Amino acid sequence: MKLLSIEDETQLSKTICQMLRKEGYVVDEITDGEIGLEMALFGSYDLIILDWLLPNIDGLTIVKELRMQGIAIPILFLTTNNRIEDKVDGLDAGADDYLVKPFFTEELLARLRALSRRKSKELVDNNLMVAGLILDTLKCNVSKGRDFIKLSRKETLLLETLMRNCGNVVTKERIFERLWGSYSRNEFANVDLYIYYLRKKIGTSYIKTVRGVGYYLENNSGIS
Ligand code: CA
Repeated sequence: MKLLSIEDETQLSKTICQMLRKEGYVVDEITDGEIGLEMALFGSYDLIILDWLLPNIDGLTIVKELRMQGIAIPILFLTTNNRIEDKVDGLDAGADDYLVKPFFTEELLARLRALSRRKSKELVDNNLMVAGLILDTLKCNVSKGRDFIKLSRKETLLLETLMRNCGNVVTKERIFERLWGSYSRNEFANVDLYIYYLRKKIGTSYIKTVRGVGYYLENNSGIS
């Protein structure tokens, strides 16, 4: 699960993001509305946590803009406004849920889980079927023929990215951004390492290397 957090209260933002990372989410942490909107438009996120009052562009405008551009990522609004009109405005603009500050982190987590479940249902049982592989993105396992292989969360995210782009090269930069987030201090070489882990688990014939560029999942590999 890759998540974008747009919240300008630095301390609160840090607390939220640290907790989410502990829970296994990959999180990009943004404190400015304008940058946040851009990231939401061009990054590939599964969920967005969005504050109401933000520098440069406010949360309500961000939701409206995203929905206008046809971006359907689930959005959880954070707001200090307990006024019913504000909640209605947020939901009307296209937010999926809201949480009034201050809140308990457990509640935030529960709501995010609910939102991602709702989204997963729309994606037909979380199963991706490509190139002879069936990936369950929620349970983190892949089956090929009679083999059933358990994957780590990162391996699942990696395979999902390759499957969704089957036949097309996915650059190392994009994989890195998807697995660790744009602002991660992780080593870039980790991409190759995770490709190695994944190949070790699913077999070496599926993922092809394009030297110096990235990797792709071969269209008909694994089908005999
Ligand atoms: Ca704020």
